[in-house]
Amino acid sequence: MSCRGGPDAWARCSVRDEKIMTRVHILGTGGTIAGQGATDTSSSYRPGSVMIQQVIDSVPGLDQLAEVTGEQFAQVSSQDMNELLWQGLANRIDELFEAEAADGIVITHGTDTAEETGYFLHLTVKSSRPVVLTGSMRPATSLSADGPLNLYNAVSVAADLEARNRGVMLAINDDLHSARDVTKSSTTDVQTFISPGAGLLGTARLGRIRYYRRPVRRHTLNSIFTAGNEGRLPRVDVLYAHAGMSPDLVRASVSLGTRGIVVAGVGNGNVPGPVVHALREAVEAGVRVVRSARVGNGDVERGVELDDDALGFVVSDQLNPQKSRVLLQLCLAHHLDSSAVQNAFYQY
Ligand code: GLU
Repeated sequence: MSCRGGPDAWARCSVRDEKIMTRVHILGTGGTIAGQGATDTSSSYRPGSVMIQQVIDSVPGLDQLAEVTGEQFAQVSSQDMNELLWQGLANRIDELFEAEAADGIVITHGTDTAEETGYFLHLTVKSSRPVVLTGSMRPATSLSADGPLNLYNAVSVAADLEARNRGVMLAINDDLHSARDVTKSSTTDVQTFISPGAGLLGTARLGRIRYYRRPVRRHTLNSIFTAGNEGRLPRVDVLYAHAGMSPDLVRASVSLGTRGIVVAGVGNGNVPGPVVHALREAVEAGVRVVRSARVGNGDVERGVELDDDALGFVVSDQLNPQKSRVLLQLCLAHHLDSSAVQNAFYQY
C-alpha cells in the first residue's frame, strides 16, 4: 500500500499506521532553488547561495511527510555540473541505499541541466528506490518562490513506496517526469519542464501523488551501465546543425580527440552534404556518430534520407542531443561497438 493522498490522508497510509516514517535524504547541489537575490523582486540573483539546511528549514510540513535529512553535496549553478559530479552523485546515492541510510533521495538542482544529471543517474544508480530531482525557476528569496512547494512535492514522492521501480524522476511545478523524457522548454517560465512524446509519469501536488505510467525503457537495476570511478568520461561533442553548416567543426572535433559526436540535426536528424562526408570520415577514424535532432520532439529514424548502415551512423530514437551525449558517453565508457550503441539508443 502506498502513502498517497497527502498529509491530510495519513490515516490511510500504511507507513503511518505502523508508526514508521520513511527516511528521505536530500542532496543539495545548488541552482536557483538555493538562489539569493538582493530583494524579493530583484531580477538578478546568484544561484547556489543558500545552504541546503536553510532551504529545507524554509518548507513547512516536511517532517509530516518523512524523516528528512540534508547534505550539501555541491553548491553550483547547473551549467557548471560535469561528469565528475554526476559520477560522485551516483556513487553517493548507491552508498546511501546500500548502507540502508535512506528510503528515498531528493536532489535539489539547477534547472538548466537537471535533465542531463537525471538521465545519467537513471542509467547508473543501482536501486529500485526513488531518486527525485527538483529545482525552481525563482530564487529562494523571490516573491512567489516556487522552490518550497517543489521540494515539498519531491519529498512526498521520494517517501512514497509506490514510487519504487520508476527510475529517476523530476518533480516540479506539480508534475512528475521521468528523467529519460523530461526537458526544459522555456528559459523563464515557471511551467518550463515537458516530456515530449512520452508524457508525464504522473503528478505530485501538495503531497497528493498520481501515477499514470511506468518507464518502459531500461533504467537503474535493469541498466548495464555503471557510473564508474570519478574520472573523466570519454569526450563526446554536440554539434548544432543549421542551413549552411560547415564541416570544419566536425574535423576540429575529431582532431581535438573526441571519441563521439552527437549532431543536433535539422528535421529528422539531417545535416548538409559536406557535413555528411566529414561525419563519415569521423566514423572511419573510429569516432562514434549519433544523429539526434534540434527539433525537440519526435523520432530520428534510420535510413530515411541517409543510408545509416553504409555511413556507420547511429540514430538517437527520441533522445535529444544533450541526453544522447550522456548515453553515448556511457556506451563509450563500456566499450560498446556501433551496433550495440544503436541497440542502447533503442533500449534506454
Ligand atoms: N542557471 C542556473 C542553474 O541551472 C539557474 C537556473 C535554475 O536553477 O533555474 O543552476
